[in-house]
Amino acid sequence: MKNATYFLLLLTVFACTQPNNKQLPINNEQNNIQFNAFKERFMEAFWKQHPTYATWSGYHKYDNVLVIPNEESRLNNELFCQQYLDSLKTFEIQKLNSANSTDLMLIKNQLLSSLFGISQMKSYEWNPASYNLGGSFFEVIKYKGHDLETRLHNIHKKLEKVPEYFNAAKANIKNPTIEHSNLAIQQNKGSVSVFEKTLRDSVNASSLSDETKQHILEDIDEAVKAINNYVKWIEEELKPSLSEENGRSFRLGKELYERKFDYNIQSGFSAEEIYRKAIEYRANIHSEMLSITKELWPKYLEGTEIPSDSLQAIRQMIDILSLNHAHRDSFITEIRQQIPELEQFINDKQLLFLDPKKPLVVRETPEYMRGVAGASISAPGPYDADAETYYNVTPLDHYTEDEAESYLREYNDYVLQVLNIHEAIPGHYTQLVYSNNSPSIIKSIFGNGTMIEGWAVYGERMVLEEGYKNSPEMWLNYYKWNLRTVCNTILDYSVHVLGMTEEKALDLLINQAFQQESEAKGKWKRVTLTSVQLCSYFTGYYEIYNFREELKKQAGEKFNLKNFHEKFLSYGSAPVKYIKELMLEDLKEKNLQ
Ligand code: ZN
Ligand code: ZN
Repeated sequence: MKNATYFLLLLTVFACTQPNNKQLPINNEQNNIQFNAFKERFMEAFWKQHPTYATWSGYHKYDNVLVIPNEESRLNNELFCQQYLDSLKTFEIQKLNSANSTDLMLIKNQLLSSLFGISQMKSYEWNPASYNLGGSFFEVIKYKGHDLETRLHNIHKKLEKVPEYFNAAKANIKNPTIEHSNLAIQQNKGSVSVFEKTLRDSVNASSLSDETKQHILEDIDEAVKAINNYVKWIEEELKPSLSEENGRSFRLGKELYERKFDYNIQSGFSAEEIYRKAIEYRANIHSEMLSITKELWPKYLEGTEIPSDSLQAIRQMIDILSLNHAHRDSFITEIRQQIPELEQFINDKQLLFLDPKKPLVVRETPEYMRGVAGASISAPGPYDADAETYYNVTPLDHYTEDEAESYLREYNDYVLQVLNIHEAIPGHYTQLVYSNNSPSIIKSIFGNGTMIEGWAVYGERMVLEEGYKNSPEMWLNYYKWNLRTVCNTILDYSVHVLGMTEEKALDLLINQAFQQESEAKGKWKRVTLTSVQLCSYFTGYYEIYNFREELKKQAGEKFNLKNFHEKFLSYGSAPVKYIKELMLEDLKEKNLQ
């Protein structure tokens, strides 16, 4: 029995992490009850510690608190983290069920990551854009669970702290990057309208006394003054002292990057390993794309000579296939029609169970959420779990003819199918339905983005491998789409660790990943302002895909894709490395029984 030897082998591997599992008088139920109570205490304390984060997450108990970002509050945060790390040590992870053991790992990671942020990353020193109040005030004022007067009362309490907040910000900043300084100017200027317009209008529309209204309006003026003053300070005092040579670089450098990668991505691989895999992957994709291009050439370009530069040949073929796209007015209708077909395919092929009681609602993206065109999944937050989940698709109304055409070519008939798989079924939407089956506040707040994105990217390939809309055209477009996630990883690592220039970055995205110039330039901007997150898509995909292949190899004939998917998703949004560990353990137990 091949299987049995494999799982016996695993047993020895796990032996060190599972001390005396058999002898201990385990009262698992008691441990889980205790841990559940701990989680509740922890979350309550966490929100109190991070009131703005709470507001953003839909927890509105601390809407009236604005923490001053000074040394004292940082020390206080460090203390908080250390205390809870100590509390976590009182739980033995082996005695918790899988839902709780993954929650424990996520809490621990969150706390360690905060400590790393305060003591090592120190973005409060170099990122002036980390000080911006527009969004958090907006979240308070738009929250419909409180009446307007309560909201304004909360706003009032926060408003009085705004000048002090920006004074602390100025005191924190040392040697910022030019890029984040520019971002701070742009975003804070944008925030002014929340105060001047949204808040003022709300005050005037309220039933507060004239005296109170007057008082709040004056505080709004003071807050606006503080924001404008901060912007002016960055523009006139901070920026002139910075130059390309002496300012801090936006590039993180290897050491910080690797550590941030460990905390954010929570992969079994290091950043460098993933980078190398991505480089390898790119070469494979290019050669696949070339052979499809050669295959399709006579069909579309009979009589013309195929360029000797293979990347050029591929690009030409992609350009031709991109002409097959929806009409701008029927873009959403098209998606609405495709979803049931996709569902049918997944059911017929038995790829995983789709709960018929939770159908997906496709809708036009609401006005207030628009801005970035495209598609997204809108899921209810953990404190609003009964709300509907939507597949938002932004109509192309506001586009010029040229913009619409370029967008539609990008999301052509083939790519649109892949997009549906990613966003909806069996991607983000389906994953969410599964994770809601074992609801966890911890996972919805600290859930692992790499697993979530990785699953959606894995889903694309899996569905295509099963033969959905199978054609060379489909595969060529899929590879182009997939190349984007691969190149995101290459780009992020190369820029932050290896010092890749803008020119080389644009070459990577435009010539090697076949992107439009505007898209590539946007990506360059993103990589100068963020780090690590761009790696999540490929890393998660790579880990899930390889895990599946590993199990397939071991199980041979017995491997069941549907079981694999359902089991994998049952752990919720935990890092792939933990899911893998738990699944292997589970399989091992079953096999030994
Ligand atoms: Zn006041
Ligand atoms: Zn996604």
